[in-house]
Amino acid sequence: MKKQTTVIVGGVAGGASCAARLRRNDENANITVLERGPHVSFANCGLPYFIGGIIEKEEDLLLASPEFFKRRFDIDVRTGHDVIAINREARTVRVKPVVGDEYDQAYDHLVLSPGAQPIRPPLPGIDLPGIFSLRTVPDSKQIKQWIAEHGVKHAVVVGGGFIGLEMAENLHILGIGVTLVERRAQVMAAIDPEMVQPMTNAICAAGVDLRTRTEVSRFDRSTDQKSLEVTFSDGQTVRTDMVILAIGVRPDSGLAEDCGLAIGPRGHIVVDSRMTTNDPNIFAVGDVVEVTCALTNQRTGLPLAGPANRQGRLVADIITGKRRGFRGVQGTAICGAFGLTLATTGLNERALRNMKIPYEVVYAHPRNHVGYYPGAQTINMKLLYDTTNGRVMGAQAVGADGVERRIDVIAMAIQMKASVFDLEEAELCYAPQYGAAKDPVNLVGMVAANAMRGDLPITHWSDIGCQTALVLDVRTAEEVKSDPMPCGKHIPIDELRARLGELPQDKAIQVVCGVGIRAYNAICLLRQHGYQASLLSGGVSTWMHFNPAARACSPG
Ligand SMILES: Cc1cc2nc3c(=O)[nH]c(=O)nc-3n(C[C@H](O)[C@H](O)[C@H](O)COP(=O)(O)OP(=O)(O)OC[C@H]3O[C@@H](n4cnc5c(N)ncnc54)[C@H](O)[C@@H]3O)c2cc1C
Repeated sequence: MKKQTTVIVGGVAGGASCAARLRRNDENANITVLERGPHVSFANCGLPYFIGGIIEKEEDLLLASPEFFKRRFDIDVRTGHDVIAINREARTVRVKPVVGDEYDQAYDHLVLSPGAQPIRPPLPGIDLPGIFSLRTVPDSKQIKQWIAEHGVKHAVVVGGGFIGLEMAENLHILGIGVTLVERRAQVMAAIDPEMVQPMTNAICAAGVDLRTRTEVSRFDRSTDQKSLEVTFSDGQTVRTDMVILAIGVRPDSGLAEDCGLAIGPRGHIVVDSRMTTNDPNIFAVGDVVEVTCALTNQRTGLPLAGPANRQGRLVADIITGKRRGFRGVQGTAICGAFGLTLATTGLNERALRNMKIPYEVVYAHPRNHVGYYPGAQTINMKLLYDTTNGRVMGAQAVGADGVERRIDVIAMAIQMKASVFDLEEAELCYAPQYGAAKDPVNLVGMVAANAMRGDLPITHWSDIGCQTALVLDVRTAEEVKSDPMPCGKHIPIDELRARLGELPQDKAIQVVCGVGIRAYNAICLLRQHGYQASLLSGGVSTWMHFNPAARACSPG
């Protein structure tokens, strides 16, 4: 039988995964990887930390070399080889090497994993020296070199997504003053605003000049030619030594578009669940493709390393005749910066509203492990679920430690279409230094399951009604003094049974405490005595994130 030749365009996350899996599946295949850059299989996710000096050596970013691919897998990896055209009829790609003449490379199967390009908006001065994007190892080396040669003291980072935050932190670690500019009202747009607030506080506490609701309108050389001047939409200017653009990426789909492959509304290559394009011999994976959101069935893009790796592996299986399909994405993502970890999975409130899915939200503020074991840290958690059946639709968490484990557990629950009742019952590992016998995942599940069963009515700070409802604060007098609540009546939990007569039977009572546990006990007591009591979800801890007056930092 004739050996099948697979040509892979792009040799990093999706492309390298595909190549290695293909060899594992088929010892007879001819596999060629064409990569325009100088490296294959490098760790783009590690680049901010290379700039910050946490990853010290460039070699540590290079996960495999062409020689390694040849030796281990008998895969022909050609770096410095740019694919400039696809001839679908002839089944060839046109290749332009850095050294030597252009040539045609034949394929039976073509896998496109060209990734995405950082967006560089056509602003005045965008091409001035000192304005960088970050995508490749050479980009990161240029940034490092600029910092060293120009003695950079200040930088403007444009974009408050995860790369912007990681860059802001790494520049800060180097002792560089940072102005972080974000067009929206908040950083990390995929996460609901109140859950971002602790990160916003941490960014400001680190001394970063965070400017939300601010766009860059132009870049100029300073009059003394020694630095850059960045002008913002509000007319203000900042003098700086360098600029990092981190305002998102655009799928690198030009090659596909030129040869007539179907392209989606936002420039992604359209593929089916087998990652096959409208040409059955051409597959596409990674940042360049449009994917289906597993929760909404809507088409979207998700430029993250996990989906790219899994899709690359999946295409190798499909090429070698295995029956598999991509499950879709759910937007699981994480960012660590300024001592905090912020993570999300599934849908946020905006997406749930847009999809008109009836949902409820619960907040909890458990510790990452039991309080009696030293070093316990609060995790602020939010769970979003469908009120028609209790299905978990999303979760977000922010804290110093243990965030990733909780969001990963819930991410798996979402993928398995689990409900809040499943989270309530999940058997998770526990010893004092790792968690609690009721893990934070169990806790948010329990609160939501109580609400679903009708045992715990939930109200929110956003719908707190001073006219129609009474806010009953069951914290201690000391707590109330340091963090007073609006329109409240204060009865400490331990006095409540004796002072029930002070409460109105004909008015809704919204009960609050620090995080919700004492309030829950109070609600059980009140409801059994005929009061209409509900939980102000998340207690004062959640209120601190909602209420602008209580925020440590409110930029823009
Ligand atoms: C700074 C940074 C930090 C990141 N951090 C994270 C993170 O923490 N977590 C996470 O999940 N994701 C992260 N990502 C995103 C993640 O790296 C990407 O989603 C992932 O690499 C996409 O894989 P891909 O194969 O689609 O594209 P890439 O990995 O970008 O690979 C595409 C390759 O194709 C090559 N290429 C393009 N066109 C051609 C052509 N015509 N001919 C030959 N070669 C071509 C390119 O040179 C490139 O090397 C980060 C990205 C960056 C830039």
